[in-house]
Formats: sequence, structure tokens, C-alpha cells
Amino acid sequence: RVISPLAGSPKEEAIERALRPKLLDEYVGQMKVREQLEIFIGAAKKRAEALDHVLLFGPPGLGKTTLSHIIAQELGVNLRQTSGPVLEKPKDLAALLTNLEPNDVLFIDEIHRLSPVVEEILYPALEDYQIDIMIGEGPAARSIKLDLQPFTLVGATTRAGMLTNPLRDRFGIVARLEFYSAEELARIVRRSAGLLNAPIDEDGAFEIARRSRGTPRIANRLLRRVRDYADVKGSGRISKDIAERALAMLDVDPQGFDLMDRKLLEAVIHRFDGGPVGLDNIAASIGEERDTIEDVIEPYLIQQGYLQRTPRGRTATLAAYRHLGVNPPRTEGG
Ligand code: ATP
Repeated sequence: RVISPLAGSPKEEAIERALRPKLLDEYVGQMKVREQLEIFIGAAKKRAEALDHVLLFGPPGLGKTTLSHIIAQELGVNLRQTSGPVLEKPKDLAALLTNLEPNDVLFIDEIHRLSPVVEEILYPALEDYQIDIMIGEGPAARSIKLDLQPFTLVGATTRAGMLTNPLRDRFGIVARLEFYSAEELARIVRRSAGLLNAPIDEDGAFEIARRSRGTPRIANRLLRRVRDYADVKGSGRISKDIAERALAMLDVDPQGFDLMDRKLLEAVIHRFDGGPVGLDNIAASIGEERDTIEDVIEPYLIQQGYLQRTPRGRTATLAAYRHLGVNPPRTEGG
């Protein structure tokens, strides 16, 4: 899926790394989060202390990993990176924690997927920079306390609601990343095009931006596909016309929706009378996993007002009917 906001192949990830802004000033958009971080990072540096623990949450591809690198860079410390599912045993986390240098940043992606036993040893580490580890086995086993260097945990999650309360409470800074505006994404596209040496018109960049579902990862990915198209079918320059033709070929419509989005809206409208319908029924109906729908597909549809989340399930809005060219049902009295 060309417009998936999820990370791609290793080659694609390498390109992404090259396009990553390195400093807070180069990080486009997310004004509120940037302002907060600027102040807290400045204060931590002035006092030569570790920055408070930071929780970043929001849909995939909005720049959580990028921001964690920037935090470490701005603090002038090392970044160690891991993810919730990778840390299987307490000793995996202990090994990382005991190797940190003063005020380093530890980035844990998908922190909502930490196992409970690993999460348990994280609490005293976050609160007192100490961990309890067990050595030996059976009756001879004993627990010893280890002191850690002060450090900052940056946790990233697509769903803050899935974090346990004790873990969430230990973050001093909680930042929600929002979808980007088309203007912001156009700036990102122009910047990336510059780095890739791809000539691009202002309205070519805007066309890519407005079809990128508010997501920088998708904007960068579409840019590379459109650039291929421009090289083969055009002069190499990315104009509005070239962008439109390339994106139509990729089945990305003017709203940035692809076949999967349309399939979901069609299912809700045609098979479930517009809803409300539960996620499990949608998942079964379109052959997609529930988690993918919840994390990847529906956040943008909801943010754009095509789908509504109600206590009884999802409902299609008038905008969804209009988008698919279907007459909405008549409401009573209407
Ligand atoms: P995931 O959690 O799925 O890994 P993420 O939120 O961590 O996603 P990143 O990997 O940080 O996303 O960002 C994806 C791409 O988008 C990167 O290549 C980065 O260059 C670009 N990007 C993200 N945010 C910004 C931004 N604010 N300004 C410029 N480029 C950005």
C-alpha cells in the first residue's frame, strides 16, 4: 500500500533517515509540542540535568522517532533506541539502562507493548534511577539494587489509551502529535525534494502534500513515486499535472484516500447501512486486521470527518456518502 503510514523496507528506512530533520528548528509543524520542548530542553541543559521523561503519542508516521532523535541531539547526549516488543525479558532492559551515560535519552517505540515484567523494572528506574535485578536461581536467588545514571525516557505510542496508568503517570511531558496541514506537508515535500535533487514546482509540492493524509512519511513516499513518474513520463520536473497523473496511477484520490479507505467507507455504507457498526464487523467485512483499521486507516478518516466513532460503533458521515457518490438515507422528518 503506497500510502501506508507504516515504516517500509530497510532500503526505504535508509532513505527516510536521510530525510529526517536533525534539529528542532528544521522540524516542520507541531508548534505546541516544539514550543514546549524548546523550553524544557533549554531548562534541562542550563541545569545540566536529565530532561523529564517524555511520552509522544499519535498515529504512525507523524514524526515520533524523528523527534526523539532531535531531543537527544538538542540535549547533546546519546540516543539508545529500542521498542516494546523487542524487550522480552527484564534483563534486556537492564542491559540497556545500565549502559546509559549521564542524561542520555532512551527511546522506546511502541511502549504500549512492553511486557508487564519489563514494565515493572522500569518504574523505579524512571522514578529514582535505580533498578532491582535478581541474580542466581532457586533458593540462592537474591535481588540487588543497582544505581543508574540519570536519563530521559522518550516513549512513543500510537495509542496513549493502551498504556497502564502507573506508566503514564511517570512521564513529566506528554505530547500529542497531530496530523499536519497541507501547507506544512508542502514545506516538508519541498525540503525533501531539495535533498533528493528533484526539481519541483510550488503547486506540484502542494498536490502531493494534500494527498498525503496529513502524514510526513506518506508525503516523502509519494514524492519519490511521483519523481519516478516525472523522470520516465516527463522532463523530470514535478509539476502539478505530473503529480496529478502519477497519483491517479497510484489510486490515490484527491482527498488522499486509496482503495482501502474507499473499501472501508463502502462497507460501512453498503453493508451496514451507514452504521453504527463495530470494528470487528468492519474488519471481517474488508479482510483487514482490527488493529490496522484502528491505528492506520481510520484515524485520518475520522479527523477529516468521513467517519465517526460512537459508543455503538463507527458511522459514515454525509461527507462519506458524498465522496462515494451515494445518496444518503433520508432522516426522519427530513
Ligand atoms: P512510526 O512510529 O510509524 O515509526 P514516526 O511517527 O516515528 O512513525 P518518523 O519515522 O519519525 O515517524 O517520521 C517519518 C518520516 O517523516 C521521516 O522520514 C521524517 O523525515 C519525516 N518527518 C516526520 N516529521 C517531520 C517533520 N515535522 N518535519 C519534517 N519531516 C518530518
